[in-house]
Amino acid sequence: MSGYAVTPCTCGRLRVIDLSSETSVCPYCGKSVVNNNVRKLFVDDDQRAVRDALAQLTGFEMPEEDPEVKKRIEEADPFSTLVYRYEECSDIELKMEILAKGLTELHGTFTLEDVKKVDEKNGERILKAMVVQCIVFEPEPGRYRI
Ligand SMILES: [Zn+2]
Repeated sequence: MSGYAVTPCTCGRLRVIDLSSETSVCPYCGKSVVNNNVRKLFVDDDQRAVRDALAQLTGFEMPEEDPEVKKRIEEADPFSTLVYRYEECSDIELKMEILAKGLTELHGTFTLEDVKKVDEKNGERILKAMVVQCIVFEPEPGRYRI
């Protein structure tokens, strides 16, 4: 494998890994991982694109200078990105908004199953809370959207 990827470390920080190496060490916590086995939020041959993706994921900002790079980042796995943002967010209200918006963008309307794919343990509780707080509504039974 070659190229570069953005990966979330178990310490909660995002970092860039070089996929031509078999293993890498997190500069923040020192944990060593096998590059093939880690979750990759964004993969590209261009190191600059990967760095821009990292900046975007960290600051939730889209770099604007290169439309080509911007397009590739937008096409990065939207589900992994959603899961990452959801997990990283510690504010429960904001978490629900990220989830509701993300799932609506991905699926149009979403189900409890879709919520559970992001948060297996709390899915049911989170969905109920989103309905109660009118973050989502239920246009048809069992299907939700913002
Ligand atoms: Zn780490």
